[in-house]
Amino acid sequence: MRHTALPSGEMVPILGQGTWFMGEDGRQFHQEADALRLGLDLGMSLIDTAEMYGDGGAEEVVGEAIEGRRKDVFLVSKVLPSNASRRGTVLACERSLKRLKCETIDLYLLHWRGGHPLEETVAAFEELIKAGKIRYWGVSNFDVEDMEELDSVSGGKTAASNQVLYNLSRRGVEFALLPWCQSRKIPLMAYSPIEQGRMLNHPALTRVAKECGVTPAAVALAFVLSQEGVIAIPKSSTSKHIHENCRALEVKLSAGQIAILDEAFPPPSRKRPLEMI
Ligand code: NDP
Repeated sequence: MRHTALPSGEMVPILGQGTWFMGEDGRQFHQEADALRLGLDLGMSLIDTAEMYGDGGAEEVVGEAIEGRRKDVFLVSKVLPSNASRRGTVLACERSLKRLKCETIDLYLLHWRGGHPLEETVAAFEELIKAGKIRYWGVSNFDVEDMEELDSVSGGKTAASNQVLYNLSRRGVEFALLPWCQSRKIPLMAYSPIEQGRMLNHPALTRVAKECGVTPAAVALAFVLSQEGVIAIPKSSTSKHIHENCRALEVKLSAGQIAILDEAFPPPSRKRPLEMI
């Protein structure tokens, strides 16, 4: 596994696992937990979840998957903006910990900006760190202006990550947000890194995949992972896909292959508002 550093210097895997849409159908519970365990076996030991996914159901799947191997996992979860008041954040975290059946979340994120003042959410994160319930905190769906505002809040400079939409077909962050995070040594966590599967039939991806001897998904992941300080968290409940995604780590894209991808998925030429899914 390749790693990148958090601002604290702690190293985390650059390829992790997402969990959106897990925990929605009880009949899939064990298969989903098995899928996450397979990912862990392959070294994708960063797991991203959220209280929102499956209305807590995804955290329960994660809790099942990591039982007995908590120390091998870097666990990320998120508080909903509607819960992100000073008291609400603490309570939401405690509910998540119960579902995750563990004592600590490694990285706890504000899922997106909502109505509660950032000061309150950050103060709650600090309280949770003091209580040992989380180790780091961060944000999600924050654009450069949001990051700058966060910087001005007491304690706001200690954010450990920003999780945003980033994939070959959504490269807007490369213009300003990614360089901003890189300059602060804050890893950018790329969500929907294969655009939920929608771009995998693109001829440019198919061509480069053929050249590299991997699947289009692995090339799409290798592309985002070729950027400094980027972590990708593809979601998969299918063992074939999990093996395929893991092979992204073997891919070293040549300048020619990057040129093919740039032509098909042009990089941004100006700042655009951050996209969200
Ligand atoms: P992804 O880009 O990870 O795509 C997931 C979809 O692609 C699933 O349908 C999966 O199906 C399929 N898939 C996975 N691997 C392959 C493959 N090798 N070949 C073909 N299909 C494949 O989308 P997500 O939106 O799930 O994003 C990843 C994670 O990011 C989420 O699960 C969540 O944890 C996080 N996220 C965070 C957001 C935020 O606001 N902070 C917003 C959105 C996502 P299958 O299971 O069958 O493999």
